[in-house]
Amino acid sequence: MPDKKARLGHRVRVWIDKVLQHKEMPDKKAPLCPHCGQEMKKWKVPIASTWANEFFYVCFNDECPYFVQGWEHIWEQQATKASYRCRLDPDTGKYGPVPVWSYDALKNDIID
Ligand SMILES: [Zn+2]
Repeated sequence: MPDKKARLGHRVRVWIDKVLQHKEMPDKKAPLCPHCGQEMKKWKVPIASTWANEFFYVCFNDECPYFVQGWEHIWEQQATKASYRCRLDPDTGKYGPVPVWSYDALKNDIID
């Protein structure tokens, strides 16, 4: 039954393609920051944090308006030298802030 065999072979190929595509997608396409349009970086979540995620996407652009305005915002509200960067939770697809205390904060944990 050559027909059946060929169909099966095709089905397996489609399945393999799907698996490969799925595996490569998160690495290939970095999401863009909604505030500045730059590619966000994969950032390893510290073990000590309360977040359950393994990693987040974070915008590390030092000129990102979200980050730039964060300094003024926190200073006005809390008189503290700190800001926040835009963070994307890859599991829920939701954006949120991640607090930083300097321009270089968190940069050691960038995965790629
Ligand atoms: Zn940004």
